[in-house]
Amino acid sequence: CGIVGAVSTRNIVPVLVQGLERLEYRGYDSCGVAVYAQDEASNGGAPFNGLRRARSTSRVAELVEQVAAGAVQGHLGIAHTRWATHGAPVVHNAHPHFSHGPGADAESKPGRIALVHNGIIENHDDLRWALKAKGYVFHSQTDTEVIAHLIDSIYDGDLFEAVKAAVLQLHGAYAIAVFCKDEPHRLVGARAGSPLILGVGKDGQEHFLASDAMALAGVTDQIVYLEEGDVVDLQLGKYWLVDRAHKAVAPAQRPVKTVV
Ligand code: GLU
Repeated sequence: CGIVGAVSTRNIVPVLVQGLERLEYRGYDSCGVAVYAQDEASNGGAPFNGLRRARSTSRVAELVEQVAAGAVQGHLGIAHTRWATHGAPVVHNAHPHFSHGPGADAESKPGRIALVHNGIIENHDDLRWALKAKGYVFHSQTDTEVIAHLIDSIYDGDLFEAVKAAVLQLHGAYAIAVFCKDEPHRLVGARAGSPLILGVGKDGQEHFLASDAMALAGVTDQIVYLEEGDVVDLQLGKYWLVDRAHKAVAPAQRPVKTVV
C-alpha cells in the first residue's frame, strides 16, 4: 500500500513514521518500520549490529509508541503501510519482512535482508517451493517474504546486483525498498506495476524512496519519478539507476523535478 525508505547520516525513523502518517489516508490494515541499527543503548549495554523492527496492526501512532519505547533508531531504514492481499492482516504478516538466510535456526541469527513491498507476486508459490528446497524457513503467509528470501539467496556482496537478478524472476506487480545489514549505507528500490519515486535530500547527501512524493512533504521537494522496470541504488551523496533492460539511465532521462 505505502512505502517510505531513507539512507542518511541522521536518525531517519522520524522521517519514516511521518511518511507513513502522510500515507495513512489511503487506508491500511497494518504497518511497520525496520532500521539498520548499530548501538548499545537499545541492547542493554551490549554492542548490537543488525536489523531492528517494529510492527503493528493498529494505527501508525501505535507504531510510533513502540519505536520510542524500543529505542528503534538508525540512519538506514524502510517503512510500510500494508493492505493485505496474501496472508491475514496480523503482525507476523506485516512488513518489513526479513531474510536471515537458509536454515532452521536462521531466526536466531541477525537478519541480513529487510524488505517492504507494494503489489502482488503472482508466482510466489513456485518461488517459495524453490526457496524452501534451499532451506529457507518462512515466517509469514505473504507473497512479499518470498522476495526477501529470493534476494538473500542471490546476494553475493552487492545488493544492487542481487535485486536486479531477483526482479527478473518476479511475475506480477511490485514496488520494493530493500536494504542489507552487510551494506549499511545502501538502499535499493525497484518498480514494475506499482509506483515508486526517489527523493534527493536538501544537502544532496541523504536519499529517499516513497510510493508517493507526498510521503516526503517537508523532507524534500526534489523528486525523480521512476519508470516501469527501473532499479535504483541509493547511497550517501550519490544514486544511480538502470532501466528495465538493466541499461544505465542518463540523468536527463529521469530529471529531478521540484514538486509543489
Ligand atoms: N501482497 C503484499 C501483502 O499482502 C503487499 C500488499 C500491499 O501492497 O500492501 O503483504
